[in-house]
Amino acid sequence: MATNSKHPETVVLHAGYRSDPATNAVAVPIYQTTSFQFRDTQHAANLFGLAEMGNIYSRIMNPTNDVLEQRVAALEGGVAALALGSGQAASLFAVQNICHAGDNFVASTDLYGGTWNLFANTMKTMGIECRFVDPADPENFRRATDAKTRCYYAETLPNPKLTVFPIAQVAKIGREQGIPLIMDNTAAPVLCRPFDHGAAIVLHSTTKYIGGHGTSIGGILVDGGNFDWEAHKNRFPMLNTPDPSYHGAVWTQATKPMGPVAYIIKARVTLLRDVGAPMSPFNAFMFIQGLETLPLRMRVHCENANAVAKHLSANPKITKVIHPSLMTGEARKRADQHFSRGYGALVGFELKGGADAGRKFIEDLKMFYHVANIGDARSLAIHPASTTHSQLTAEEQAQTGVTPGYVRLSIGLEHIEDILADLDQALATA
Ligand code: PLP
Repeated sequence: MATNSKHPETVVLHAGYRSDPATNAVAVPIYQTTSFQFRDTQHAANLFGLAEMGNIYSRIMNPTNDVLEQRVAALEGGVAALALGSGQAASLFAVQNICHAGDNFVASTDLYGGTWNLFANTMKTMGIECRFVDPADPENFRRATDAKTRCYYAETLPNPKLTVFPIAQVAKIGREQGIPLIMDNTAAPVLCRPFDHGAAIVLHSTTKYIGGHGTSIGGILVDGGNFDWEAHKNRFPMLNTPDPSYHGAVWTQATKPMGPVAYIIKARVTLLRDVGAPMSPFNAFMFIQGLETLPLRMRVHCENANAVAKHLSANPKITKVIHPSLMTGEARKRADQHFSRGYGALVGFELKGGADAGRKFIEDLKMFYHVANIGDARSLAIHPASTTHSQLTAEEQAQTGVTPGYVRLSIGLEHIEDILADLDQALATA
């Protein structure tokens, strides 16, 4: 079914699959198998030589994962996707696919703490330099760029600041210099499509809204198919010169018959082959279930979050409520430019009483879960300074927008009156 022109509610139910070719099953089967039988030796040789696409081994591809990949690619408006074992693996693969030792990339300072650590520390040990810049001025990306810069990286709706990233502005700066923008769209599926604003690669931690029920860890990388890697040969030697790990394949040439998929094919057949980190077919099945209701859930998540933000703003114990619906000026302009279906379901706030009041508030919540996660159907709360961002120095925490008294809420799908009642009773003692 041609679903690219359909609405998200339809795409998530129909893209990439009609019924199982072997059994006619309507629900996507879980292909829990490591390996796939070759028809004959020629078939095996064709698959390994990329002369024919098909299943070889579930570390590299799997039919259940394939449906998820096609669906998320269609939802985002991309050409192909790669399911991975976690959002962290997706962030690493996104950059490592085009950066090697001696290269650099420019990333927004407003990132999930785990991504920050991966980029600032682990990738440094691999010889890849991450240059962090403040996205308040998009020109900071240009200023940090040199001949060895391979990509820009940012989050659509970074928490805790919850200021929508200037996707269109930074994508334009990148395209002027032949640099792709990679967007982590974990917090804003359906609400924002980064490819529509010029991004080249999108990734998600599917652990969050796509799964939606807090059951499974996963990630996905989506290729927009809109970046001309061949036109910038010097910047992307990894895609334009013979790859010794794949009998000298030049990825922009070898993948031409398949369409503009050089980036995502290379990620699959070299990085995923060598590093591992595949998504399990069972988790892919769970994410396919989650996807089916994603647009509906995002609508209710956003409605509830708007109501929470408004309600908390009237509480005298709170000094500041952070949610795009309450922003003004440039931040609001960016939100309205990039978001068409709501402002997301993450709400931050600071209590007058600082860190002690923040901790007490969290301990007094009765319905909200106190967990290190976002995007669950249930409402969640956390104190970032002592948890998700605790590995960062105080200075780094401040740069990412985490103050000692900051509390982050991930608003769920419960009835709004029950959500507000739990917040109010915990605030009463904070
Ligand atoms: N990106 C964002 C925005 C996240 O919030 C997270 C996890 O919290 C990740 C990536 C990493 O995802 P995962 O936990 O699936 O590895």
